[in-house]
Amino acid sequence: MIIKNNSVVSIHFGVAEVDGNALDSTENGAPLEFIQGSHYLVPGLEAELEGKQVGDKFDVQLEAKDAYGVFQEELVQQVPRSLFEGVDEIEVGMSFQAETDQGPRTVEVTEVTDESVSIDANHPLAGMDLRFVGEVVAVREATAEELAHGHIHQTGGCCGGHEEEEASDHECCGGDESKHAPGDSCCGGHGHKEEVKKETAEGCCGGCH
Ligand code: ZN
Repeated sequence: MIIKNNSVVSIHFGVAEVDGNALDSTENGAPLEFIQGSHYLVPGLEAELEGKQVGDKFDVQLEAKDAYGVFQEELVQQVPRSLFEGVDEIEVGMSFQAETDQGPRTVEVTEVTDESVSIDANHPLAGMDLRFVGEVVAVREATAEELAHGHIHQTGGCCGGHEEEEASDHECCGGDESKHAPGDSCCGGHGHKEEVKKETAEGCCGGCH
């Protein structure tokens, strides 16, 4: 199966600076899984993967604008130190969630003086040309439910755990959460198209997000 829009794709990959300094890798963990076309990946890598299939390798060098974006000066701000009242210690390198015009973002403290604190809301890899090297390990079609939710369902993950269950009409979900074992979240792929449709129409999964 070829990777195209709405494919659920798993890749193993490493990302490094173009001079070779390794930054991150899935090598010792689970592959990264995402829905192609959802902009989950940086744009240059998503474009690179389009049309590939299981077993295909990739090795692509991306300019910052096609990776995590160019560095934006306006995302670096100086704020009065008094804003951090109640925080015992503020150190360069600390990061925290802040509300910004573009929604909540992780910002990093880049400078601290007696009067002010500089914070940087750029992605840590913004402004960097990066090389992505890896391999496609799985490709499948996204289910209607996954597309409706905009994320992947997997066994044991969000909404997972029902794959083997031959649920009759709305035994799973349908609002009757008492039928779910503790820790067993609502929904999950039953592999029955008709059920998926019905559940989606009736707002199944409303409780697990
Ligand atoms: Zn879900």
